[in-house]
Amino acid sequence: MGMFDYVHMIIKCPRCGEKVSGFQSKSGDCCLRTLEFWEVDYFYSDCEKCECYIQFEIKENVRKKLPISAYKMNSYSEFVPYKGHVGEKEHNPEDFIMKKR
Ligand SMILES: [Zn+2]
Repeated sequence: MGMFDYVHMIIKCPRCGEKVSGFQSKSGDCCLRTLEFWEVDYFYSDCEKCECYIQFEIKENVRKKLPISAYKMNSYSEFVPYKGHVGEKEHNPEDFIMKKR
């Protein structure tokens, strides 16, 4: 396990104009993967030239609440070694949800 993830982003420093990359975030699963900015809630880096700290943070209420119909639901009858889950059957989630929030 790592301590953070990298975020793929290159910008111009808002203070001195130098190229800034090396963005990181602790908002994801922190496995030292390289993520896209829209996968994390915040990310940050330092400008190597003027040493200013730059942080991006997602604005409130922009993550959309989705209905269950936006998800594909499948069940699998069996797990076969080296093959994975087999016997796929697709369902309409609306028919199976017992408790809605
Ligand atoms: Zn700078």
